[in-house]
Amino acid sequence: MSKYIISACLVGLNARYDGNSNLVEVFSEMIKTGKAVPFCPEQAGGLSTPRQASEITGGVGDDVLNGKAKVITDNGQDVTQNFLVGAKETLKLAKLLGAKKAILKSKSPSCGCKNIYDGTFSGKLIEGMGVTAAYLQKHGIDVIDSDEIKK
Ligand code: SF4
Repeated sequence: MSKYIISACLVGLNARYDGNSNLVEVFSEMIKTGKAVPFCPEQAGGLSTPRQASEITGGVGDDVLNGKAKVITDNGQDVTQNFLVGAKETLKLAKLLGAKKAILKSKSPSCGCKNIYDGTFSGKLIEGMGVTAAYLQKHGIDVIDSDEIKK
């Protein structure tokens, strides 16, 4: 049984909005040894790759889950529903695998566990989680920011 689910971009899959990855060798090793299974909530939510960059506006991941904030692309499209679907699909995968822990890419509007961008597309970070990170944590999955492990 796999112990972890992990953001797909961290293991070298080109899942990022710009069609690239954030490969970190220690994480791809976890796939090779069967310790982790990759996922990308934005792809699972029906968004294409590459896609427009998105940020949470009006709050953080929890606020999106509570209907108080939205996820908007840099060209003004509302992709909140895609992010919500992606979060639910990710939890489904964790449950199927019996995974209790998730290693998540830092700063992402989906996967960020500690900080996310503030919704202005200016590179400014605020404290808070992305939509999938918040949803997983709410459902008992231990979420781990990728930057914490890389240190
Ligand atoms: S949604 Fe998560 S897994 Fe997908 S590209 Fe962004 S950070 Fe990586």
